[in-house]
Amino acid sequence: MNTKKEDYPQSVINTACPYCGEKTPINRPNDYRSRYAYCLPCKEKFVVEPIRDGVKVFTLMEVPYNIDPECQALERGQSDEE
Ligand SMILES: [Zn+2]
Repeated sequence: MNTKKEDYPQSVINTACPYCGEKTPINRPNDYRSRYAYCLPCKEKFVVEPIRDGVKVFTLMEVPYNIDPECQALERGQSDEE
């Protein structure tokens, strides 16, 4: 580990929208928490899960409970840092 977490740049990547299949730019998260993103072409909201080699995307209908950002936030409670 020679990269400090704070210094890791958040970059914009293109990923395929799970709804329309068009490429849409999203912010590549700098950690491994899932979050919401919005498709530019169709304006739909979807879930981005960071993985080692990029991201996985899910529609709100198909996102597994354990990576739903809202559920993660609930489980985390009020604290966002350990
Ligand atoms: Zn779309």
